[in-house]
Amino acid sequence: MSSQFFSQDNDVTKVDSGSQDSQVEALKQDFIRNLHCLQGKTLNLATPYDYYMALAYTVRDRLLDHRLHTTHRYREQQAKTVYYLSAEFLMGRQLSNNLLNLGIYEDMVAALEQLGLNLQDLVVLEAEPGLGNGGLGRLAACFLDSLATLSLPAMGYGIRYEFGIFDQLIINGVQVERPDKWLRYGNPWEVCRPESSVRVKFGGYTEFSEDESGQIHIRWIGDREVTGTPYDTPVPGYQNQTVNRLRLWRAHATEELNFADFDRGDYVGAVADKIFSENISKVLYPNDNTSQGKQLRLEQQYFFVSCSLQDIINRYRRQYETFDRFHEKVAIQLNDTHPSIGVAELMRLLVDEYHLGWNRAWYMTKHVFAYTNHTLLSEALETWPVSLFESLLPRHLEIIYEINQRFMNEVRSRYPGDLDRLSRMSLVQEYPEKKIRMAHLACVGSSSINGVAQLHTDLLKAQVLHDFYDYWPQKIQNKTNGITPRRWLLLSNPQLSGLISSQMGQGWITNLDQLRGLEPYADDPKFQQEWQQIKYEHKMALTEHILLFNDLEVNPDSLFDIQVKRMHEYKRQLLSVLHIITLYHRIKQNPGLNLVPRTFIFAGKAAPGYFMAKMAIQLINAVARVVNADSEVGDRLKVVFLAGYSVSLGQKIYPAADLSEQISMAGKEASGTGNMKFALNGAVTIGTLDGANIEIREEVGEENFFLFGLTASEAQALKAQGYHPKSYYRRNRELKAAIDGIANGEFSPENPELFRPIVDSLLERDEYLLLADYADYIHSQERVSQAYQDRVNWTKKSILNTARMGKFSSDRAIAEYARDIWHIQPVYPS
Ligand SMILES: *Cc1c(COP(=O)(O)O)cnc(C)c1O
Repeated sequence: MSSQFFSQDNDVTKVDSGSQDSQVEALKQDFIRNLHCLQGKTLNLATPYDYYMALAYTVRDRLLDHRLHTTHRYREQQAKTVYYLSAEFLMGRQLSNNLLNLGIYEDMVAALEQLGLNLQDLVVLEAEPGLGNGGLGRLAACFLDSLATLSLPAMGYGIRYEFGIFDQLIINGVQVERPDKWLRYGNPWEVCRPESSVRVKFGGYTEFSEDESGQIHIRWIGDREVTGTPYDTPVPGYQNQTVNRLRLWRAHATEELNFADFDRGDYVGAVADKIFSENISKVLYPNDNTSQGKQLRLEQQYFFVSCSLQDIINRYRRQYETFDRFHEKVAIQLNDTHPSIGVAELMRLLVDEYHLGWNRAWYMTKHVFAYTNHTLLSEALETWPVSLFESLLPRHLEIIYEINQRFMNEVRSRYPGDLDRLSRMSLVQEYPEKKIRMAHLACVGSSSINGVAQLHTDLLKAQVLHDFYDYWPQKIQNKTNGITPRRWLLLSNPQLSGLISSQMGQGWITNLDQLRGLEPYADDPKFQQEWQQIKYEHKMALTEHILLFNDLEVNPDSLFDIQVKRMHEYKRQLLSVLHIITLYHRIKQNPGLNLVPRTFIFAGKAAPGYFMAKMAIQLINAVARVVNADSEVGDRLKVVFLAGYSVSLGQKIYPAADLSEQISMAGKEASGTGNMKFALNGAVTIGTLDGANIEIREEVGEENFFLFGLTASEAQALKAQGYHPKSYYRRNRELKAAIDGIANGEFSPENPELFRPIVDSLLERDEYLLLADYADYIHSQERVSQAYQDRVNWTKKSILNTARMGKFSSDRAIAEYARDIWHIQPVYPS
């Protein structure tokens, strides 16, 4: 993608600061200096990666300068700060985003050009920091962008995984995982801060003692200790001189070697201890929407939460003598239950380490924490065996029991005699195994509980957290997710950004509601033509990507029908596969059939241990192999699975979509944010009434959204009355043929039984009601094809989708969190 899209009269990236020539000159000088001093190279000896590093350092210098001033301002104003605790941050590549947000993109292009270098050639050398699985981690990244853009005092806290989400290869149609060695060549964006290291204990036992005044003190004697060292990544706001931080913790041994073991001659034992410590931040668990009940996972959670809370307290105490104002200066957001052990850890720190009384500590704790729930799926709700807590975090178990006892007393006095309610609301699950319910801990220890789309919040209130809603009706609220328009339009689609800005200026970049100003152009032939042209260019670029990586030729004039997201049964990638097979069968039965040509594009990683998700990838590739090679099909139908779905691949895919597939079973997708990225880039959605789809449809208008399927309550009712997938299979000839095709080896002739697990799952259980929704889905897809043939009307739909996406800016979401949950104010540069 050439940088020329950022230039000309609709340049959206320039910032007025001195003469442009001197700015370019300064960038050039700094680049050359960094090449010499940090990479030890001259211009003609350097490799492309040396250039990338020197460029990154040149950008980082400017970020750190702003960062210093931002910290100073926050201190001076004694501003309340929000700390966003998340086990995942899916940041995407940093270089071009940072150039854009600093307002030096265009000048950097010019500076590099004068040195004979091309920016885009260097951008792609950056290893993507894939420290997240999917939507949850990407949301955290969008939120950091908006926090900085709104000049809000904020810091992200997480884990600096040495290995992020695995690299996905597709070999013979099957997913193969490879470790993601993203730090292999160094990371120029982070700054290590060893002076802010903290220590974290594990295991051991607790001890009581009484002081002279009869006060009881409890000491936790751990049997292992690790050191957490923070690595800070600057997070710039959009051209506003605010730079916040993402602080990620790395675990290592407290002593490089255990000297006691060493002196006893146990050299290997000493080194092994070091390895145990480093394991904690070694690798991201690759599960999305599923809890992995492994001890190491709990160790990771406690490690980063304890590091972060100690850091928060240290920062607070540098400014304030007592804890009186702690809750007025600190807000902590729990991104799902992954950091919810923080409730017990803050109590421990305040009571055991800083000797606050229980009631005062509990008051502080309840006021600083807020909890975001991200899922209704029961397999994703985290519970930890009490036995694991006993051995790993004995003091926290005592604290959780104490919190629970006090909470149960309150519930008992509100609902005397309601024993069922007590056991439902308890932080401790008794059967079949004694476990701690982390969502309950988060609810009890927080001032606010929020869902991430209206339907999701309604379902939390009515079902998953119903007792808590009964108990605290004001505590549960909705905060519909959003995405940052900087990365997901300005950066990923500079062409469309330029066109929009040429009509209405650049205000939309930080005030996305202004996109409504596009509505008057939705029918304008010239504007429509430019709009179509830009979509075509992105489809062309994706066509080239497909040719390069999948060795497949697709037609950029065909309808690009795209489903990209984590592979999961509830997301129903297989429903789209059933549609493809149905179209294929129609062609085979009627070779002259006049079909609107479609290219079906999939991408997404499957958790390595998730058999059905991996099998779905295999089926998509099997269907692709048969369909793509069938000369009778021609270019009416092509199927592509792109390997290695990631933020940077997403930036290529979303702008190239005509149709966005958001087809989860209603009531299962908490919000979705991929749906927003597609629509913002002018794709029209086919979707169920699930998650944020409902609100997207409300905004863009029902005539600009292809709806199908059961509603969440219809789906629940169907299951309650007894669901029989086979009856749908028997009654629908095309559905039967599609499933029979899979069952009979039509797509796996060398192994007809290969996809038996998929067939059995659909016919025997069909937990996610694919068969119940199939007929309506096919119908809706026929309306899509019809609509697509009317290019003028389709383009209008596309423009109106973009124009009406203002609500889904993460700036709106963050402004709501700041107002309703955190009670924080912006601190603007003077
Ligand atoms: C936006 C995004 C997601 C979330 O997609 P959904 O369709 O909402 O599940 C997952 N992965 C990446 C890389 C993303 O950018």
